Amino acid sequence: MATTGFAPPFAGKLVSPLLRSKPSPLLSIPRSFRKPLSLRVMGSASSSQRPEKLQEAGKSDFTSLSEDEWKSRLTEEQYKVTRQKGTERAFTGQYWNTKTTGTYHCICCDTPLFESTTKFDSGTGWPSYYEPIGNNVKSKLDMSIIFMPRTEVLCAVCDAHLGHVFDDGPPPTGKRYCINSASLKLIPKE
Ligand SMILES: [Zn+2]
Repeated sequence: MATTGFAPPFAGKLVSPLLRSKPSPLLSIPRSFRKPLSLRVMGSASSSQRPEKLQEAGKSDFTSLSEDEWKSRLTEEQYKVTRQKGTERAFTGQYWNTKTTGTYHCICCDTPLFESTTKFDSGTGWPSYYEPIGNNVKSKLDMSIIFMPRTEVLCAVCDAHLGHVFDDGPPPTGKRYCINSASLKLIPKE
């Protein structure tokens, strides 16, 4: 298959000593993310695999929506980010510089994800928070960039890709949740 243009310099002398001596980055997931997920998803899986009940009122099973259904619910940018793990360009999103008081919800399923009180100016061009709301986001090791393991952040209810979390955030958590505006919807406080 064709390479992505991000091939590392494998030619012997070009390989940095760092890459050879560093312990496996696979072990560097922050401890706070290792605990089992306690999702607040309602009900249990029904014995029937058929999605016939989806139209009934109440909670939808967002994880079973088809790609076409997501496309029809979202803008192209929202779809690319949340369902295809895209990244919006820095300083272009709707919320990177927003200081409005309120709650940031998942654009896909409306789950509240971040409070504006935990938002801070990271200088990155993406909305950044030091703490999510409860267990409403989950995380996962992302090895999509070779030699650069990152921790992906997803909506715990609908699996929407939100962004990544890093360990260089401010107190009290030291975390930096670097989130795409396109995955969020701000509900301002009245
Ligand atoms: Zn969601």
